[in-house]
Amino acid sequence: MDTAQPVDPQGFTLSAWERELAELGAPRYRAEQVFSWLHARRATGYAAMTNLPRQLREQLARRLPWRAAAVAGTARSRDGAVKYLFRAEDGAAFEAVFLPAARGASLCVSVQAGCSFACAFCATGRSGFQRNLRAGEILQQVYTLAEAHGLSSYRVLLMGMGEPLANLDATVRALQILRHPRGQALAPRRLTVSTVGLRGRIARLAREVPGVELALSLHFTTQEQRQRYLPAARRFPLPDLFAELSRAESFTKVTLEYLLLAGVNDTAEDAAALAALAHGVVPRARKVEPPARLRSRFRALVTYHVNLIKLNPAAGSPFLPTPYAQAESFQNYLKTAGITATYRRSVGSDIAAACGMLAGQAASAAVGTGGVR
Ligand code: SAH
Repeated sequence: MDTAQPVDPQGFTLSAWERELAELGAPRYRAEQVFSWLHARRATGYAAMTNLPRQLREQLARRLPWRAAAVAGTARSRDGAVKYLFRAEDGAAFEAVFLPAARGASLCVSVQAGCSFACAFCATGRSGFQRNLRAGEILQQVYTLAEAHGLSSYRVLLMGMGEPLANLDATVRALQILRHPRGQALAPRRLTVSTVGLRGRIARLAREVPGVELALSLHFTTQEQRQRYLPAARRFPLPDLFAELSRAESFTKVTLEYLLLAGVNDTAEDAAALAALAHGVVPRARKVEPPARLRSRFRALVTYHVNLIKLNPAAGSPFLPTPYAQAESFQNYLKTAGITATYRRSVGSDIAAACGMLAGQAASAAVGTGGVR
């Protein structure tokens, strides 16, 4: 732990508040009051906490300085997505995206400013790594967007910039606070963590916040290809990754994310291997079996969902998206093999707000400084 880290009152758990307020000699119930101001009512400072004695509010402001990032710009997509650029006091830039949907909105938020994992097709990876976000900064993105769009119930996707399992302490704390009954009280199945997969940490996430959804950025069906394009995969071979996944039983749902790249990972052999992986089996040989046979062979096994993703262009990326008709037949193979497979194009690509496009560039032409509406 870096002790030079600034304090993070926005990310304090209820028990941390109990300790802090006890040290100030305040009665115990004050901790719950502060916590619910912050996390149920989404207060943005101590001044709003009007049922606290003024003296206590002033003590808190001195002792635990409030450091909120500023909203440095917003951009609205034709399809209704709205991207927010945040800038922290030290200049760290990170983005969050409001994603409207008929069945309730999702808020896609960042866990790091930048990212150090350098996946070949991802703009965030190219922008380099600035720093981990504090739990309070993760929560601030959620609350700012929920307030701006008048949301009381929504999904949270840790799918913005950065790798949640590389900033696991803050990620876990933010998720625990979001599900806390005295906070937003979001059901764990409304919280999705997207990860490239880091050894030991999938299991730890499953233990520390049971019931959340996991999205594993698989993208390739062989270890060789996976580590060529996702450098992080070098330290976590596919058999180990799937073994850890199968032991982490508390997730409500596990989705394998699969980015279709023309001529790279979209063959019939890939579809067959992906079907086996979605049944929890790492295939030894590359061969194409009739999908119905796979379905009966793996009937008794767990299945993971598959989400096929259309590539969003990232500047300088050498890849092209798989043509639509081929993506459909890839999806049909999986379905016949007994896998739930969705194929969605992501929203927000016109404002560089879609998956893999968040670069946190203040100078990005897509980011205006105007209001949201
Ligand atoms: N680090 C986490 C979360 C951030 S990225 C992870 O790796 O999962 C969220 C998702 O967008 C990941 O599945 C990522 O692989 C995907 N992605 C990255 N670049 C993309 C691109 N250009 N087009 C579509 N999806 C992309």
